[in-house]
Amino acid sequence: KRVKNSAHPRSNSKSGNHLSVLVTGAAGFVGTHVSLALKNRGDGVVGLDNFNNYYDPSLKRARQKLLENSGVFVIEGDINDHELLKKLFDLVQFTHVMHLAAQAGVRYAMENPDSYVHSNIAGLVSIFEICKIANPQPAIVWASSSSVYGLNSGVPFSENDRTDQPASLYAATKKAGEEIAHTYNHIYGLSITGLRFFTVYGPWGRPDMAYFFFTKDILKGKSISIFEGPDHKSVARDFTYIDDIVKGCLGALDTAEKSTGSGGKKKKPAQLRVFNLGNTSPVPVTKLVSILEKLLKVKAKRNIQPLPRNGDVLFTHADVSYARKEFGYQPKTDLETGLKKFVHWYLDYYSHGTRKNSRKSSS
Ligand code: NAD
Repeated sequence: KRVKNSAHPRSNSKSGNHLSVLVTGAAGFVGTHVSLALKNRGDGVVGLDNFNNYYDPSLKRARQKLLENSGVFVIEGDINDHELLKKLFDLVQFTHVMHLAAQAGVRYAMENPDSYVHSNIAGLVSIFEICKIANPQPAIVWASSSSVYGLNSGVPFSENDRTDQPASLYAATKKAGEEIAHTYNHIYGLSITGLRFFTVYGPWGRPDMAYFFFTKDILKGKSISIFEGPDHKSVARDFTYIDDIVKGCLGALDTAEKSTGSGGKKKKPAQLRVFNLGNTSPVPVTKLVSILEKLLKVKAKRNIQPLPRNGDVLFTHADVSYARKEFGYQPKTDLETGLKKFVHWYLDYYSHGTRKNSRKSSS
């Protein structure tokens, strides 16, 4: 009953009405911010998350509390639980699904390959299957990744560039997801939009990501590993602030074509769309560290190492002209401004000393 009340079946917010959105991975970093933004503009939101222990589950519980205090109800469950999905879709007529649940991180795959197949491939199929039989079919927006560009060295990356050289199992499952999306769009006319996020950072972020554990280790006086390529150039990333990513997610949801198919039948196939969401301004990791040193007022102990062949790539850089054209996507936050907000949140969140700042793997 609580679920039904919190997500009224309404339609596209561009036309003045509101959406009814299922957000998977709602207790995750991006899921929390997207859910809050949808709720704040008046959309109905139901969250789903399995609260796995890939990284500190207490951080996910804290995000859940934040969501529930804002009126977003988060169901604990797995995207592969078809019975649960069926019950949920019987209760609520979702206009949209924002599918963010996934196994993230590139190095964790070395010991845990199955979790990538479970969440990023089987889980994605499970979401497409429930949307296929829903009547009416919701539009799906889901997170792919910049990692699909893999070993491609032609930057900036634009959506039509080659994606046939994934450098990690994570990247391979995201690429597989894009192929699977193509078939569900082609056969069943599902309205599907894929978003290739580029290294997202910000408050409530992921402890397995470099900016996060660098902050922790610099404050503790521990040395940090910085990787460089064969030419001694630091690894560089197109770090993208969470608020810019959230705007891109909402833009993609608002412009998603309405599906006119139902019950697994195709009437008018919606166009499959894939967009880059990045910052268009890559920054070397050495520079990221300098900014953190300045903000934390602590000198880092730098340990420069050659980039191991563990799934990381040397460089990422997004061309976002397609997203700009389709829904006015325009990243606004430079790295120093965004890191300032992250550091402010970090110091506040961990100042209590009771919270465990744990990290299971690195990326
Ligand atoms: P996250 O790990 O913080 O969030 C993912 C959430 O999904 C977690 O809370 C996890 O518990 C949940 N989840 C995982 N498997 C699940 C399952 N089988 N059933 C239900 N819930 C499950 O990661 P994030 O950074 O918020 O990433 C969100 C999405 O964006 C992911 O698809 C990720 O691959 C993608 N992405 C993120 C980045 C980034 O830099 N953060 C970059 C590229 C792509």
